[in-house]
Amino acid sequence: MMELSCRTLGLDCDYVAKGENMDELMKNGLEHTKTAHPEKYEEMMKMTEEEKQKMMAEMQTKVAKV
Ligand SMILES: [Zn+2]
Repeated sequence: MMELSCRTLGLDCDYVAKGENMDELMKNGLEHTKTAHPEKYEEMMKMTEEEKQKMMAEMQTKVAKV
């Protein structure tokens, strides 16, 4: 199981995204971002492919394996 909390990403929020793998984790995290942090979601949607990849790589270093 993999976990990534909003707090780890610098957000003042207690949500922890969980998933069996990176794909599932990202899917759950994105779903939460869309509803709970729409401004962040909008920011992400405006990113270029390059910026997105950079963000994903950074996120992967913050994922906790439990
Ligand atoms: Zn959150």
